[in-house]
Amino acid sequence: MTKPDGTYPSTCWECSTRCGSLVTLEDSRVAKVGPNPDHPGSKGAFCVKGIRALPELTYSPNRIASPMRRSGPRGSGQWDAISWDEALDEMADRLLAVRAEYGPESLVGAVSSAFFSRGAMVALLMRSLGSPNWMMNQDLCGGCRALSDKVTGLGIVGGEDVDNTRCALIVGRNPSAADPVQWMGLKRAKEKGAKFIVIDPAETPAAKLADIWMRPKPGSDAAIALSMLYVIIEENLYDRDFVENWTRGFDELKQRTADYPPARAAELAGVSADDIVTAAWLYAGGPSCFVSGHGIDAFSNGVQTFRAFHCLVAITGNVDGKGGNIRVKRPRGFRNYIDILHDPEFALPPDVAAKTLGADRFPLWAGPKGWQTSAHNPTVLDAILTGKPYPVRAMYVSGVNIAVTYPDTRKVLAALKSLDFLAVASHMMTPTSEIADIVLPKTTGLEEEEVSLEPSAQIVCYTNPVKPPEGAARSDFDFTTDLARRLETRGIDTRKFFPWESKQAFNEYLLGDEIDWDLLKKQGWAPFDFKLGNFDEAGFKTPSGKIELWSETLDAVGVDPLPAYETPRAEQSSPSDRKNFPLILITGAREKTYHHSRYRDQAWARKVSPFPLLQIHPDDADRLNLADGDWIAVETAGMDGVCKVKVTITRETDAGTVRTGMGWWLPEADGPEKGALDVNVNVALSYDGPWDPVTGSADTRGLPCRVTPIPESEIPMRETA
Ligand code: SF4
Repeated sequence: MTKPDGTYPSTCWECSTRCGSLVTLEDSRVAKVGPNPDHPGSKGAFCVKGIRALPELTYSPNRIASPMRRSGPRGSGQWDAISWDEALDEMADRLLAVRAEYGPESLVGAVSSAFFSRGAMVALLMRSLGSPNWMMNQDLCGGCRALSDKVTGLGIVGGEDVDNTRCALIVGRNPSAADPVQWMGLKRAKEKGAKFIVIDPAETPAAKLADIWMRPKPGSDAAIALSMLYVIIEENLYDRDFVENWTRGFDELKQRTADYPPARAAELAGVSADDIVTAAWLYAGGPSCFVSGHGIDAFSNGVQTFRAFHCLVAITGNVDGKGGNIRVKRPRGFRNYIDILHDPEFALPPDVAAKTLGADRFPLWAGPKGWQTSAHNPTVLDAILTGKPYPVRAMYVSGVNIAVTYPDTRKVLAALKSLDFLAVASHMMTPTSEIADIVLPKTTGLEEEEVSLEPSAQIVCYTNPVKPPEGAARSDFDFTTDLARRLETRGIDTRKFFPWESKQAFNEYLLGDEIDWDLLKKQGWAPFDFKLGNFDEAGFKTPSGKIELWSETLDAVGVDPLPAYETPRAEQSSPSDRKNFPLILITGAREKTYHHSRYRDQAWARKVSPFPLLQIHPDDADRLNLADGDWIAVETAGMDGVCKVKVTITRETDAGTVRTGMGWWLPEADGPEKGALDVNVNVALSYDGPWDPVTGSADTRGLPCRVTPIPESEIPMRETA
């Protein structure tokens, strides 16, 4: 139902920053989306994606208007519009047919993560069919950070108190593009005299403001963190009380860091030893806040790198205090979507859950003891293509464009095309939905209700459905529970996994008994009581009940229990690879206009960021005879795929290192791939390992690469795009 014209508080969930918004309706249409200055989390910060991309997505002529069934060969672009009844009945029948032939675990879901309700819906749908398998993108973004945080026992992800910090240690993160709330807070802290230590190969806006900027070789950050630990321990700068009372393994950590005096770490990482020493003193002075990004995630040594930084947070006592890293608080009785997946009430029998693909090799990531209980994506892709360890033959994807966002695009497309059945819920046609059998239209963040916890501000946020869905779009909760009821009429007991009769009932179940539901709806957020530093009361969720510098959890799965440095992958490559692929590739640089693969069809975004770019240092450009604006091919060792991008010459990237974004495809291009095999960097990346021993993350940066000019005839898009 459309609300009366007026302005409504809401929460933007176009990305995980969750900014407080004000949405204005005029003539029953969304006329404006903007920041909510009274929101205690975002404090008026906002970005252009919330202002422009969300309403344009909602009213886009490219939006899928109704469910569709493929009517021609896979990828032919031939579709018949069908009713929801037809779509969900067919989906139920086809999923059950695959299940009958190959077994329940042959079904798999895919979603971005379980941070949003759609993640829980997809996972529960799979469980209701008896499959433990669902995939998420977090092995590529945030997973190493989350796992390190969990096994160390800190519980600080998302709780950076940047506003009150005296020293921000910003590692592998460009908050100016990735998180306007954090960036505004950092700038306010800087104005009040806070120091910035930035560790990043790229000269980001934060690096430009830094008091100390260290530019490490990609993948070598752990050496710097271990050396800062060395200085802090040797100089007795750590918080002795905190270490004695609340940590375990300090002596072992001291022994490990003894191998990393500044001179050695400086050589390993290619930075100045003096900078390491000064950074250690500054950070230990505190209160200090560790601000990290995906620049040190999605490496095959990502967890150990984060472990080194998390030990820094711990031994300096920057845990759960003003200006440090606040532990995640929650209202009484509150459940997030990940909690549901770990709740025994919604669990599969242990022998079934143990079959989760990848759980045998990455038990802290995949399966019942894994972080979000998901599968290991590369293992799923292999199972689809080889039938081993068992066949995977049908997939349901919601709100994620995995044909673009997973590494090794050719392999991902081959796997998806080989499935017996593929259903995709999406806002618009993407390279993933183009090869589906059934496509379902989803609601946007202006059309559906969502509740979420904001750990940096100790509030619960509310996304307000200010308008009815366009066309036949429905929310994930709505059509997934509808599908579950149809499965029930076909003999599958789905009630256990979907006991809620409405989204309102589901949200009330999540909120617990402390949050004032009326206040939450009225102001778009609701506070709850919390305490800082209540370690006696809250404890630490580790086997020892303390922060584990030496991790019993890692030791139990055969992983080094102490934070470790590993030689970056590029330095481990063979002499011939180093000769043929002489540059180091960094991917994932953020663009303010796009979120991952989204909004690529929006004219304003394409005007601001019209081309996929590769930053290259002037010395490298000279050597390779490249000019600004040249189109080039990027290749990495061992991969056939080639990504085509435009050169931008800048000193923002270091000599020898080239830097690009991710998520590019061309909605206007011909064919089902829509440019995903041309301009998408994932076509040149491998998903086949080496993998982080904890998360199974593949290296998506720090890779040896080469760049070569391409002829005019091979340029994938024109200047007028
Ligand atoms: S940063 Fe932008 S896209 Fe993300 S929640 Fe805030 S306004 Fe929305």
